[in-house]
Amino acid sequence: MSVPVSRFAPTPSGRMHLGNVFCALVSYLSAKRRGGRCILRIEDLDLARCRAMADETPRLLDDLAYFGFEFDGPLLYQSERGDVYQKYYDLLCEKGLIYPCYCSRAALHAASAPHASDNTPLYDRRCYFRMLQGVPPPVGKRPAMRCIVPDETVTFFDMLQGKYEENLQKACSDFVVRRADGVFAYQLAVVVDDALSGVTDVVRGLDLLSSTPRQIYLCRLFGFEVPRYCHIPLLTDATGRRLSKREGDGCMETVRKKYPDPAPVLGALAAAAGILKKPEPVTLADLIPLFDPEKLPRTPTVCMPEI
Ligand code: GLU
Repeated sequence: MSVPVSRFAPTPSGRMHLGNVFCALVSYLSAKRRGGRCILRIEDLDLARCRAMADETPRLLDDLAYFGFEFDGPLLYQSERGDVYQKYYDLLCEKGLIYPCYCSRAALHAASAPHASDNTPLYDRRCYFRMLQGVPPPVGKRPAMRCIVPDETVTFFDMLQGKYEENLQKACSDFVVRRADGVFAYQLAVVVDDALSGVTDVVRGLDLLSSTPRQIYLCRLFGFEVPRYCHIPLLTDATGRRLSKREGDGCMETVRKKYPDPAPVLGALAAAAGILKKPEPVTLADLIPLFDPEKLPRTPTVCMPEI
């Protein structure tokens, strides 16, 4: 069997919080426990539009170093990989699966039936039908590019969540792979990067579970091997609210001020992951032999224990 390769793929859109670190920790330990590698990828696709990402990235790297993560190189920046994504995007074009979409966000929301599971609108494919009817495109408007999905159900077995299936047309519809500003979409970039980096295990937050069928679909179109998936619970504060970049609680700035030594924080995260029975100071190296995927909580959320 090949050596496991996992990854942590943060978006530097704000200072990291403990929820991000929880994902990093579980992903890292799941590979290291089996003698594998864990790579780090900065998902800064939006760098051109969001310059703050450039400032945030060094802080992110420093926060990861504070915990003692030693990722296996090379460190990838999605903002530098436009040419690679272009190649795979061209492949989709060659397969006749791409069409331009001129709909504005507002029009999409007004015209779309809410997505059954998470309220994101399901695209009604109006630009696809317009193209088939030969309707000329609006003048001076740059389109987003969508990938056609078949009326097919994608099924996979998540290591933690079990069987998950989704009909691509009914659950997500044709999805954007290149935005109107030319930036490649997350769905395309993530599949290409994971495959080209040899990632065998995608360990990430449960909020990305519903993106997975689209990613498996792209994976198959590109001829890549589909990785194993493990979607882990989202970390919440004591009131059950999900940690977010906008809230102070659990933000790395606050955490590092309070704990110059990361050991108690790692211990609490390890307890949340089921690795320790109760929070106690530990190092990352201590946790590697203790990690057991069977002990990961199977609930949608898990509360950050008191340190
Ligand atoms: N960049 C995404 C995030 O920060 C994670 C993508 C992934 O793990 O597939 O939420």
